[in-house]
Amino acid sequence: MSDLESGVTQPAHASAELVLCRHCDLLQQLPLLSVGQEAACSRCGYLLDMRQKDPVLRPVLYAASSLFMLVLANLFPFIGMDVAGNVHIMSFFDTSSVLFNEHQQWLAVLVWLFIQAIPAFCMLAVIYIKLGMVRRVRGLVWTARVLYMLKPWSMVDIFLIGILVAFVKLVVYADISVGMSFWAFCLFCLLHLRTFQVIDRHALWESIAPAPQPVPADFAGRTGVSLNLASCSCCTAIVPLEQKHCGRCGTKVTARIPASLQKTLAWLVTATLLYIPANLLPIMETVSLGSSIQSTIISGIILMWQDGAYPVAIVILLASVVVPVVKIAVMFWLCYLASHSGHKRQLLSTRVYLLVDWIGRWSMVDVLVVAILAALVRFDLLMGVYPGMGAIVFATVVITTMLAAMSFDPRLLWDQRNKKEEQQRG
Ligand SMILES: [Zn+2]
Ligand SMILES: [Zn+2]
Repeated sequence: MSDLESGVTQPAHASAELVLCRHCDLLQQLPLLSVGQEAACSRCGYLLDMRQKDPVLRPVLYAASSLFMLVLANLFPFIGMDVAGNVHIMSFFDTSSVLFNEHQQWLAVLVWLFIQAIPAFCMLAVIYIKLGMVRRVRGLVWTARVLYMLKPWSMVDIFLIGILVAFVKLVVYADISVGMSFWAFCLFCLLHLRTFQVIDRHALWESIAPAPQPVPADFAGRTGVSLNLASCSCCTAIVPLEQKHCGRCGTKVTARIPASLQKTLAWLVTATLLYIPANLLPIMETVSLGSSIQSTIISGIILMWQDGAYPVAIVILLASVVVPVVKIAVMFWLCYLASHSGHKRQLLSTRVYLLVDWIGRWSMVDVLVVAILAALVRFDLLMGVYPGMGAIVFATVVITTMLAAMSFDPRLLWDQRNKKEEQQRG
């Protein structure tokens, strides 16, 4: 067990307990952690646990401040654009409403969910469950479960990068100004990310019920599957498989994600097929003085490169082309490894999986750039940007690759090795 000292010395407040790694299925004993310390899996390096200062107060304060900033971000002008004396000011909400009015309802709903509804729900959920740690409230477990399910779909950080990309694209043609809401949004983004950093997931579940310890401590070093145990995907409690449901949070528990490889492959094939029209269909249409240019993802990148906007061209190339293609290829490779015995790349493949799982959502940046440009560049006959069908198809590609990574069970990469080690143990 490796634990990283943060330099903060506070008394330890939890007793040592067994945990089951969700990525390699190794049962291990957590050391006593002090505030600021974290524990990683001794075999695959996955973060198992960490202790935070003031596990109730700090997340509530950050979440409440973040929500306040989100309200402010919706009240004032967001970004202004001035083309030859014609000024157009967009609000934060225009990113969804303009798409809706342009008959891109699905894209409008997705953008609204990613940058407004899900982040707001997450912050309200944090406040609710943290207050629930002090005073018993209804629906605590359900709220915590939904919070962790929705967390990867909150894309405020990607939206912020999208704004910067949109600025670089537009600054050649117009004067861009930022309003009060823009600064409120930047603060909202920072506070939102900080809220998740200061949540002590362990303390949260401990306040609901102590982690069940169905086997004695000397079983550490064995694997979950050999002991007929599984880790709860929601609260990380160790659950004997004959129980079927976690005794602490009620989540259905199975040894491995059922039909994991089939589900992952189905999502990957869908993503691969959709990736073709996503690149062929125009992602947006730019109308300028009566002439119209439809641009696909690739032609947009080439145009930016020709305009000399090299950093933005590289960012979009990485996010919209390299990341999805590499992610799909890597996920196919992981499915191949998981279904073939005798491979020795457990550690490498687990780390690659964690990387592609984390980086995949960043591909959404180009879709959010289209939402920003469509809301901002509105000058009747002079100039306008309109979303194209490619944007919703590409958003679907990103969503399906995210679902593919979520359906994949990384423990499958370790199962053959685990079986061999158990056999050697006798
Ligand atoms: Zn592990
Ligand atoms: Zn549970």
